[in-house]
Amino acid sequence: MDGEALVRKFQEAQMCLTPEALQLLEGREEREAERVLEALRGREFIVTPELVRGILEPSPPEAGEAEGGFFRPKPLAAEVEARVEVLRDVTGKSYSRGEVRDFLKLFLDRYERLKGLLMKRSDYADPLPLGELAGMEEGEEVRVVGMVAEKRETPGGHLLLRLEDPTGTAAVWVYKGKSEELLEKAEEVIPDEVIGVEGTLRSGDKEPRIVARDIAWPDLPTSGSSPKVEEPVCAVLLSDLHVGSKMFLREVFERFLLWLEGRVGDARQRDLASRTKYVVVAGDLVDGIGVYPQQEEELYLHDIFRQYEEVASLLERIPDHIKIVLSPGNHDAVRPSEPQPAIPREVAGRLYDLNTVMVGNPAWVSLHGVKFLLYHGRSFDDLVSVLPGNSRKDVSSMMVRLLRARHLAPMYGGKVAVVPEERDFLVIDEVPDVLHCGHLHISGYKRYRGVWAINSGTFQGMTSYMRERGITPTPGMVTVMDLQKNKPSVIRLV
Ligand code: ZN
Ligand code: FE
Repeated sequence: MDGEALVRKFQEAQMCLTPEALQLLEGREEREAERVLEALRGREFIVTPELVRGILEPSPPEAGEAEGGFFRPKPLAAEVEARVEVLRDVTGKSYSRGEVRDFLKLFLDRYERLKGLLMKRSDYADPLPLGELAGMEEGEEVRVVGMVAEKRETPGGHLLLRLEDPTGTAAVWVYKGKSEELLEKAEEVIPDEVIGVEGTLRSGDKEPRIVARDIAWPDLPTSGSSPKVEEPVCAVLLSDLHVGSKMFLREVFERFLLWLEGRVGDARQRDLASRTKYVVVAGDLVDGIGVYPQQEEELYLHDIFRQYEEVASLLERIPDHIKIVLSPGNHDAVRPSEPQPAIPREVAGRLYDLNTVMVGNPAWVSLHGVKFLLYHGRSFDDLVSVLPGNSRKDVSSMMVRLLRARHLAPMYGGKVAVVPEERDFLVIDEVPDVLHCGHLHISGYKRYRGVWAINSGTFQGMTSYMRERGITPTPGMVTVMDLQKNKPSVIRLV
């Protein structure tokens, strides 16, 4: 490409080439100039020869060595040993045969453990079994814990919640026109979740009736504590790469890799890159095959093995001192029912050869002593259909709602299929430091009672599926969790 055209091209993209950078690019192919332009667009104003070389001649960075005249210090995280511990994960521990009685066991386990969490509250220390209500006097004050078997509005505009426990059932009435606050709470209730109800006993025709005064969730304890991390390390949180889809944003991912190598970004961003010790992907590494109708037309790789090959080729370029944690999503090649085991070696062998830890979905993983709960987020598809506007207005509010339910997929019989393991892997029985989800393709975070709820966004552009549903994704927003400062921040790559 000739010099004049190059200068113009970069100027149009609001960048300025130094004379040396111009010299380097002159005589090269247009395609190469294009690559440099795309990698730096919106990131850099002055384009130096170092930046150009960094993009066109990426050589394996040697620690602290002068590279092409450009001194890049050794990343801080390279001095620190990775500390990854998989605390809980279904991979290799799935014994379910999927029989009806297995489901009964699963729900009983879920109920007992969530009731246990509610009983930690002083007011719910001793809830009444629903089976005992029938023998009690009308007008008595009661506290019960049940699973929501039904939630509906009555013809009179009141809200009826039918509760179930292993001993019986009860109809909980939330009257309209009494307490606005209570009605709002009741509207928040998700079918099948476990809640506590406090109210007055009334006799009913078929089953005991409780006129509700208050509703309680297992929730998180109010006093959260922060993890203590000695070393200045960060974890980069990603999800929803969707490699294989025509909408996979390769250039954005390339820019992500450049940033991670310390080649692009401002001082603050380079500092975060230098301290990055972990990259965590919460599912949907590939777009998969046959996941949604007419997906074929939106794929550039029609073979699942090749999709994972491509993921491996990309992740391979992450610097060696960074540990990569990979968890599956609903587009990955593993059973779609939850809990999902790790993506198997048979389809993604090369991923196992990288510096990776392969875990299931959900998975509890400790990174440098910070407890992460990874969950792809399929249950959000169910939540949006039942939650009132306020609690689904942003992605992190929905994540907070899961924390309050202390369950990752409270609703049964919707989009989330469940494998009836003996123990319900989706109960949030411990308090994580970070809940990391994806699936919604919208980045966002929020702190709730000491826990960071982080949705990591995506590297996929708008698909026809999303357009139909009016969802606008936020690709190229990378969340970096500073483990030492216990604080997330977002790097924009687009
Ligand atoms: Zn996805
Ligand atoms: Fe997904």
